[in-house]
Amino acid sequence: MARPTGPFAAILLLSASMLAPAAAQAPAPAAPTRAITQITGDLYRFQNNFHYSVFYVTPEGVIATDPINADAARWLKDEIAKRFNRPVRYLVYSHDHADHISGGEVFADTAVVVAHENARRTIIAERRPTAVPAVTFTDRMTLVLGGRTVELSYVGRNHSDNSIVIRFPAERVAFAVDFIPVKSLAFRALPDSYWPDWIDSIRRVEQMDFDILAPGRGPLGSKADAVASREYLSDLWTEVVAVARAGRTLDDAKQSIKLAKYQGWGQYEQFLPLNIEGMWRHVANQRVPNP
Ligand SMILES: [Zn+2]
Repeated sequence: MARPTGPFAAILLLSASMLAPAAAQAPAPAAPTRAITQITGDLYRFQNNFHYSVFYVTPEGVIATDPINADAARWLKDEIAKRFNRPVRYLVYSHDHADHISGGEVFADTAVVVAHENARRTIIAERRPTAVPAVTFTDRMTLVLGGRTVELSYVGRNHSDNSIVIRFPAERVAFAVDFIPVKSLAFRALPDSYWPDWIDSIRRVEQMDFDILAPGRGPLGSKADAVASREYLSDLWTEVVAVARAGRTLDDAKQSIKLAKYQGWGQYEQFLPLNIEGMWRHVANQRVPNP
């Protein structure tokens, strides 16, 4: 191939010399932020970057929840062995989404994997990179290990058709992932969501006995945060329906809906237009305008 000559060649050389140092200085990928913190009693919270799960230490072994991904799960397994010197006996998935439950196979040597029946179906169908649940339930299940109890409840469809509440009665903590954001808007354009079932499902959580709400992202909350989250979704639904029924467009909805009461919440600027878009899609699917 002929070498470029003239001014063009000079530009090429200049570009190469400018790019080389930048490439050499490119930072290595950041190590994940991982941590284990005590929530209360024998219940701990596990963080992997922006994702969280919980695990419960009993005299006869550990009940773990979302593994998050295989690397995170290997780290967690090692930490549990070092700190508590006992095996993980159960692994419970919050719902089927891969960003929370990948890597379950890491615990499969000692743990029974548990999830909602619908989660098992989707994990198989979508080939989620994780262990397929061996034990499933449809409404409720109680796990007992080392004299400790964990209550698993299905509260209806919300963010997925298989999200469950994992409750620790002695610690008065409920772990619920992605469908009750704490002081934060819902995730992006409400993927895999069901309306108004989602709102009804949070009402069922409000009936449960607990003080601390442990979400799958962001800080811990309380039952009051569940109430506020349900009110936000209900307000979003009401406002989007009103714009649609006025014969206006999605762009109008994004311009006019501010839900200013929630502007101090996490992801308000970023997720509000997306939340409106997601709700608009559902509203459009569920109404027929007059001709
Ligand atoms: Zn999810």
